Amino acid sequence: MGLTVQKFGGTSVADADRIRAVADHVARTRRQGHDVAVVVSAMGKTTDELIRLAQDVSVTRPGREVDMLLTAGERISAALVSMALADLGVMATSFTGSQAGIITDTTHGRAKILEVRADRVRDALSQGRVPVVAGFQGVSTDRDVTTLGRGASDTTAVALAAALGAEVCEIYTDVSGVFTADPRIVPEARRLAQLSFEEMLEMADTGARVLMPRSVEFARNHGVTLHVRSSFTWEPGTWVKEEDPSMEQAIVSGITHDTSEAKVTVTGVPDRPGIAARLFRSLADRGVNVDMIVQNVSIHGTTDISFTVPKLELDAALEVTREHAGEIGANDVLADSGVARVSLIGAGMKTHPGIAATMFETLAKENVNIEMISTSSIRISCVVRTAEVERAVQVLHEAFSLS
Ligand code: ADP
Ligand code: ASP
Ligand code: MG
Repeated sequence: MGLTVQKFGGTSVADADRIRAVADHVARTRRQGHDVAVVVSAMGKTTDELIRLAQDVSVTRPGREVDMLLTAGERISAALVSMALADLGVMATSFTGSQAGIITDTTHGRAKILEVRADRVRDALSQGRVPVVAGFQGVSTDRDVTTLGRGASDTTAVALAAALGAEVCEIYTDVSGVFTADPRIVPEARRLAQLSFEEMLEMADTGARVLMPRSVEFARNHGVTLHVRSSFTWEPGTWVKEEDPSMEQAIVSGITHDTSEAKVTVTGVPDRPGIAARLFRSLADRGVNVDMIVQNVSIHGTTDISFTVPKLELDAALEVTREHAGEIGANDVLADSGVARVSLIGAGMKTHPGIAATMFETLAKENVNIEMISTSSIRISCVVRTAEVERAVQVLHEAFSLS
């Protein structure tokens, strides 16, 4: 039988008991005749704790040193899982990202994988050993240790699965799959049996935390089938793969929410060609990831532009925007951190009119004000007040009968 990549998230390796349970499962998978390569996250909340520690000792926190610190978390898990496997008589070898050949660019904190030179991992497999790779990290073209962004052990797992030609990449986590909404907010949410890469990508991009967006993108681009499942019950979970044309598409597959972004509004912007181009080029040059953008119709030759950015990038976004507001003669720049986004995702939306109308009516009935709207062919997103977003998810989940 073929190769399975198994990735275990933070809660799945949170303590010694969990680590032994993981080792048991890997050993069982091997007994069933599969080769297994393992990718692990840091134990429990280790990464958060390390970040807090860095904040306590330093205000400058050079990216290279932060990455050196954070990669230690995954390294601990990899060594411990390998030891637990050894106790079960399964030969295992732990690898750092660098040893596993995860080559990245030089952007500390959110490096991109350029190449996977998995020779050592392949050698381990051919010797009948289980490679246990520390997720979330790599080594840059400048030979420094890098991290790939929060939640990126998922990306390590998919990249490794692609490089090794694995049959499936299993993502083990603390929920039993991908649900119609975050089960912590909607307890009646239902587990989805299957999702297309497109739908999963929209869900991940709009806040469904269970898979890091870049890992889904990588899986789609390299045709890696994903299976998201529980490391507590071990039951079959959600398959994410190429769309099956013979299956009827769900009109709405899921509802997501995201509270990680803030809104910036520039008022009284002169309505001339080139103004938006200049502003958004400068934001891009500062590395600010702009998400939704809305420009109003112009009245008396001026208009308002609103856009959302990650809260972590708000200060940089404001600095750049304020610089420009002066130059282009805009009135004012306003920041708003009290916004959140609720999104409906479904491939069947393309062929079913009226989904947006139902969404807006449902929010109106709850007195939830919509501040911005954006759409793709399989998604509708509304920006609302943060305080109202959980209620918005719940009423939409009910309105579209997703339970
Ligand atoms: P891990 O540490 O295993 O990587 P994460 O915390 O990154 O786990 O992701 C799992 C969490 O994602 C779940 O505990 C759940 O609260 C959250 N989540 C948000 N939206 C969804 C969804 N639609 N389906 C499943 N889980 C979701
Ligand atoms: N430990 C890292 C994080 O907490 C990576 C991961 O868990 O995927 O972001
Ligand atoms: Mg995760």
